[in-house]
Amino acid sequence: MSQPKKNYYEILEISSDATEEEITRAYRKLAVKWHPDKHKGEEKKKIAEEKFKEISEANSVLSDPEKRSKYDEFGLCDGEQPDFSGPQGFPDLSEIFGNMAGMGGMGGFPFMGGMGGMGGMGGMGGIPGMGGMGGIPGMGGMGGMGGMGGNVQRNNKPTQEFKVKLRVNELYEGCEKTIEIPIDDICVDCNGTGSKNKKKKVCPDCKGKGIRVIMRQLGPGMISQQQISCGTCQQKCWVSEGNCVGCQGKCTKPNKLTKKINIKKNFDYQTKMCLRDSGNFDPNIEKKADIYIVFKVTDLEDYNLKISNEYDLVLDYTIHLWDALSGHTVYVGTHPSGKKYSFKLGEIIKDGDVRFGKGLGLPNEDGHPGKFIIKFNYKYPDTILDHDKLKEFLRTKEENKGIVKSEYSKEKLFNPDLEKDDNNNFKGKNRNNGNMDGDGDDDDNGNGQPGVQCAQS
Ligand SMILES: [Zn+2]
Ligand SMILES: [Zn+2]
Repeated sequence: MSQPKKNYYEILEISSDATEEEITRAYRKLAVKWHPDKHKGEEKKKIAEEKFKEISEANSVLSDPEKRSKYDEFGLCDGEQPDFSGPQGFPDLSEIFGNMAGMGGMGGFPFMGGMGGMGGMGGMGGIPGMGGMGGIPGMGGMGGMGGMGGNVQRNNKPTQEFKVKLRVNELYEGCEKTIEIPIDDICVDCNGTGSKNKKKKVCPDCKGKGIRVIMRQLGPGMISQQQISCGTCQQKCWVSEGNCVGCQGKCTKPNKLTKKINIKKNFDYQTKMCLRDSGNFDPNIEKKADIYIVFKVTDLEDYNLKISNEYDLVLDYTIHLWDALSGHTVYVGTHPSGKKYSFKLGEIIKDGDVRFGKGLGLPNEDGHPGKFIIKFNYKYPDTILDHDKLKEFLRTKEENKGIVKSEYSKEKLFNPDLEKDDNNNFKGKNRNNGNMDGDGDDDDNGNGQPGVQCAQS
């Protein structure tokens, strides 16, 4: 890198033969002095920020023996100016003072000390100028942060969902579909490291622990400490070094996963198919997501149907008064399974009556398809009719809106047995109401959801 040479020694106000300890001490002293959080007013804050960046950069080079010797020899500024513009902002003082994860209790800074007993301060050894920290009386019992300095484990397997649209008759008939799932695939140029040299670098900010301890001043002499996840490495404990050209350091590249899926006859639309370890690559945990394929039935409206209770198909049928009162055969149309069907009512149908046919709803995994439910609604004349007009109205066979009713034909019609819904089971019980979007996160609710079909990719 050929940045203009900066005098890091001057920046840290030390001599060029300073020991490592002197460098650290100088850095800490200046970092405390110039920490942007300590400077109020926009102008002053800006100056402090610049100073702070400079100090951090100088420290990042001089505290690394390899970089320091390069710098001494060639005057190379190997230190990238740290970017503090991210959500984490400037590092807290606790980070500047190294890993204090073992520290218990709350301590005040020396210049604020003298406030009583010691909070447990284990793990503070070797921090220059920090001796004599006083705990606040009564706060000593707040230890218990110790022992959390270990690496952070993040093993949650990522999952993603992919929706596949099915026509309702494809559930009955079965089909084969080729799907293309867009995924963020592992970048082959850098093996998912994001680094130019395909290697990972231990995160310099958390020293590979994934967490950092931050300290906050609560009031005079009161400092609280808190463990936060390391924003620099997103808890993965390493960072990329020099952006990979192929992925610009993202560790992934957009790709497409092509899969053939087989929809069996009488397919349960609530089935979830799982493609293990096939989805988006998460560089933070170096795992590929499981893809859950979920299904959405798209064309129920074409049949005037809605879904109720997951597998029941509901038809709102506007019945002409003549048909309702005469026990006429009602020709309803085409069932999504492809069969044409009609109903011989054989009795008076009242407005709002419900009939249902068992086994004619949507197929499901346990082999007991839902019901086909017909809700009858009367069609009334728009205006008051005199006797003659009423007769005419009753005898007029009007087409029911939206329902195919042309088949008064010789075609063989399917006549399901209809049962009466005496208990009003199906009224106002439209739980799903055609919404089959399913959020995909309900696979553990155990309420009769069909199992997940899994396939290794
Ligand atoms: Zn880190
Ligand atoms: Zn890459």
